[in-house]
Amino acid sequence: MKKAFFKKILALSLVSILGLTLFPSYERPVKADDFTCQPYKMPTQGTISSYYGWRNGSFHHGIDIPKSGDVPVYAAYAGIVSRAYYSSSYGNVIFIKHRGGTAETVYAHLKSFSVKAGDAVSPGQQIGYMGDTGDADGQHLHFEIHNPEWNSSKSNSTDPIPLLPDETTSPICWDGDLMKKGQIGRITVLKPINLWKRDANDKLTFVRVLNPGEVYRVYGYDDLYGGQYNVGSDHWITKMDGYIKYETPSKWRLDELKRIYP
Ligand SMILES: [Zn+2]
Repeated sequence: MKKAFFKKILALSLVSILGLTLFPSYERPVKADDFTCQPYKMPTQGTISSYYGWRNGSFHHGIDIPKSGDVPVYAAYAGIVSRAYYSSSYGNVIFIKHRGGTAETVYAHLKSFSVKAGDAVSPGQQIGYMGDTGDADGQHLHFEIHNPEWNSSKSNSTDPIPLLPDETTSPICWDGDLMKKGQIGRITVLKPINLWKRDANDKLTFVRVLNPGEVYRVYGYDDLYGGQYNVGSDHWITKMDGYIKYETPSKWRLDELKRIYP
């Protein structure tokens, strides 16, 4: 009886000592996916030369990363290869489906690929080499992200930049995506809505129409133009009920982000 009691006390104090040392006093994440957060990775080495958006009168549905020599290309996210073949425009190209078919990435103009349809790939796994096959102007990787999947009009394409890591990316996960410095929330586009850029005098310039399903990190909000969310780099989305869904992370995540980036 006495022995059992002491055992219990010992166990309880161990739990509290471990609890105090291992876990700080802030709210802890509660969802299982908090521990399997997986950001997109850069799909190759090199510097981005061309961004997502209008370019010489046509829409560029991805980003271009040029580099000379033998340059490995990596899977940006865990997934299953949906296609790996030669197309006259994309050249040697790999398509990979992610997150149970809610996203698909495209790696175009490859010199060669080393995976085939049905292969499972892990993030950062080499899948081929950069090249200039197909309709390419010099050696580069053309990289696209689609939500939920690629189609021939590429209408599901999304800007890869907000999804790729940079020097402002924190180790804090929120529903599978990493939070970034200064982030206060996120917007999911529900109906097509305009993306605006503000100049130094807060004058608006139309950038493009955002597609349903696109997700943007939010860094601020103000009352101009009936209320707008700052989605980074002076880009803004107007608060319109039914067109966007705005969500905020838990206080724990916001506090942690402030601790990392005071
Ligand atoms: Zn391109």
